Amino acid sequence: MKTRRDFISKMALGTVAAGLSLPACSEDTSTNQAPAQGKIPLAISTWPFGTKANDEAWKILAGGGSALDAVEQGVRVIEADPSNQSVGYGGLPDRDGHVTLDACIMDSNGNCGSVAALEHIMHPISVARRVMERTPHVMLVGEGALDFALTEGFQKQNLLTPEAKARWEEWAKTAQYKPRVNAELHDTIGMLAIDEAGNIAGSCTTSGMAFKMRGRVGDSPIIGAGLYVDNEVGGAAATGLGEEVLKSLSTFLVVELMRQGASPQEACEQALDRIIQRNGGKVDFQVGLIAVNKAGVTGAASIQGGFSFSLYQNGDNSVHKAKHLV
Ligand code: ASP
Repeated sequence: MKTRRDFISKMALGTVAAGLSLPACSEDTSTNQAPAQGKIPLAISTWPFGTKANDEAWKILAGGGSALDAVEQGVRVIEADPSNQSVGYGGLPDRDGHVTLDACIMDSNGNCGSVAALEHIMHPISVARRVMERTPHVMLVGEGALDFALTEGFQKQNLLTPEAKARWEEWAKTAQYKPRVNAELHDTIGMLAIDEAGNIAGSCTTSGMAFKMRGRVGDSPIIGAGLYVDNEVGGAAATGLGEEVLKSLSTFLVVELMRQGASPQEACEQALDRIIQRNGGKVDFQVGLIAVNKAGVTGAASIQGGFSFSLYQNGDNSVHKAKHLV
């Protein structure tokens, strides 16, 4: 039987499945304090910058607003922030210099909307919501998603900031399509909220992997991969190496595990363990998961250390380190 020590040393020797240079996270000011559990409303989101998104979501939740509005408005704050180089405006481009955005949203009735490889629109999450509410479809991609956004009144704009352009130009000097593994440097924002009425919604938005192949889409806009919500059970959101989340449909798995009785924490850990086992125990990439159940109990875990999440619950909005498995 493998000991934990064997397992960890195998991790250290592991090879990378995929991935590219990834943008830097915001400063981590996390605490190790156990979050308050079981109080609603609440908003939980990935990474320390999620506190800003939670603040916005809380304005809606505290006023008795819906979880759906909260998760949309919350992540819009991050999409509009040019200093965040992995979400929305200011996001790092693909290897050809195009900023392409992926997002999805899910409500408490099981409705969902998604956009992938969307260019020139600052708020893909709001386009995803329009796809959900105003079309008979779940997902629009590329030029079709852009055409739809423009007909819905969204403004076309240049999302490539001078800072992101400079980083791309620097990368282009060598243009190495080669993974640079840093477990902390994955920055998609995924958010889950429960409103006063007890309804759950979720959102997920990203510019994806920096300097990715043109047309590459990760887990973030895929329902069941980057995000999944079932109002009877709970919700989950993912960040990290999208290819690995896609292969396991990790957020769908988390929700199904909770349905079978796992706590949010157990469900996150089991879903990550599935990824580790699929890779024969050799993982040196990062995946992080957050989850909440119907009772307002939260959980979070990651494969590698360095993942933290932001939780607004019981009047407190703070950053917490997630447990890591490796
Ligand atoms: N999950 C995102 C993707 O693969 C990236 C990330 O969260 O860092 O596109």
